Amino acid sequence: MDFFGHFIDGQEVPSADGATFDSVDPWTREPWARVALGGRVEVERAVAAARRAFDSGPWPRMGYAERGRILHRLADLVEAHADELGMADTRDMGKPISQSRGNDVPRAAMNLRFFADHARLATAEVLPMDSGHHAYTRFEPAGVVAAIAPWNFPLMLETWKIAPALAWGNTVVLKPAEDTPASATLLARLAAEAGMPPGVLNVVHGYGPDSAGQALTEADGVDRITFTGESATGRVIARAAARRLVPVSLELGGKGANLVFADADLDNAVDWSIKAIFTNTGQVCLAGSRLYVQRPVYEEFLARFVAAAEAMTVGDPTLETTQIGPLASAEHHAKVCGYVRSVEAEGGKILTGGLGDGWIVRPTVVVDMPATAPHWREEIFGPVVVVAPFDTEAEAVQAANDTPYGLNAMLFTDNLHRAHRVSAALRAGTVWVNCFFIRDLRAPFGGVGDSGIGREGGTFSREFFTEPKAVVMQI
Ligand code: NAD
Repeated sequence: MDFFGHFIDGQEVPSADGATFDSVDPWTREPWARVALGGRVEVERAVAAARRAFDSGPWPRMGYAERGRILHRLADLVEAHADELGMADTRDMGKPISQSRGNDVPRAAMNLRFFADHARLATAEVLPMDSGHHAYTRFEPAGVVAAIAPWNFPLMLETWKIAPALAWGNTVVLKPAEDTPASATLLARLAAEAGMPPGVLNVVHGYGPDSAGQALTEADGVDRITFTGESATGRVIARAAARRLVPVSLELGGKGANLVFADADLDNAVDWSIKAIFTNTGQVCLAGSRLYVQRPVYEEFLARFVAAAEAMTVGDPTLETTQIGPLASAEHHAKVCGYVRSVEAEGGKILTGGLGDGWIVRPTVVVDMPATAPHWREEIFGPVVVVAPFDTEAEAVQAANDTPYGLNAMLFTDNLHRAHRVSAALRAGTVWVNCFFIRDLRAPFGGVGDSGIGREGGTFSREFFTEPKAVVMQI
């Protein structure tokens, strides 16, 4: 079985007490890797290493171009190891290989390249004052960044946090999700090979509560916490951060609404709506899990949508042709099954899909569900979509906004006025018009309400991972 250790101060190490846990392959439902199980001891060692690397190591002092060269070298290595990295995420959490190797690995490399270049090319404001003084802004690195990641896009979301933190001169302690530890250790090995100095990127494995995750949020010497995960965990982490007054960025859950208007290009709307709910087997914070279709096209859209869902290839995630793999873990499978099993009791009807073998849930389309049902309100985080018709634009906007979440929404229309009007009215951090999941890494990314606090991306990441400083000069 493969072994993945912590990565602390430039070395891959086991836990001090030798503790380990297994990572289970959701397709075979057998352990495929053994992983070091860290706790407070390993976190303290990693934070101390990151502190040393920040306070007296070369990284914060070497300048944007030199750091950028190392980050670009790491991106080259990530691309060169696409098979290994893609397969690590696939075996850890069942993501179809076409998505892990074909999408997440290139995106991870792009995260590293983009933030390296963004930091190097960034400009800062100079303010000539009426008094004759000049004020200018310096973006000093914040220090030691704690990054806590979820299991649904392991490598891609870890690099989304690590890349800007490192590019701006910080050092990092990463705690990957316990379900997806492998690619983080692989990334740290590659970072060392790329020439990243010891202590700059540390990885500690373990669970959340009473384990490495909690210890990291409570550790002295951490200057920023960036977290992606469930809204309930975000609340716990915000409380831990408040105790030490550490700035925290929270990218949390979602329950995205997808509005299809009768004037939309239906081929395009069906195509993107399928991707919006079934990409990564529905385990996407941005999933379009609430689908509202305007009544004149409701029946036609639904017929085409169901046919497209039924045409998806379900099965072994290591096969290039597979589109829907198993759910990520036994626990998560049980949670999603609970929602599927309760559809009829809640008053709804399954048009297609349902439970498959092992930890498979087939692409599932649910209709006739009362608006008060948990299926409309709670994040199912699986390949399950609830669909309902609507009549007016106002009704659609009202339904879309009727959620404590506010991460994203989609709308499909060929009416330009409607596109702008509805985008403005939706309470969400991102609105996609006639598309889904297209990202410009300069754009703000984050959520409203239960979907999080703060924004990351481009200058928004700079704001979070630095201490902007005003220097006022008399000249
Ligand atoms: P989770 O909250 O269970 O775990 C996320 C991470 O936090 C893991 O590394 C876990 O070990 C750690 N953790 C758990 N409890 C902790 C604690 N008390 N202290 C410190 N660390 C703790 O989330 P998950 O199930 O891994 O991920 C799925 C969730 O992530 C979904 O809700 C999804 O919507 C959300 N998500 C959001 C975004 C976004 O960008 N907004 C992106 C991806 C996933």
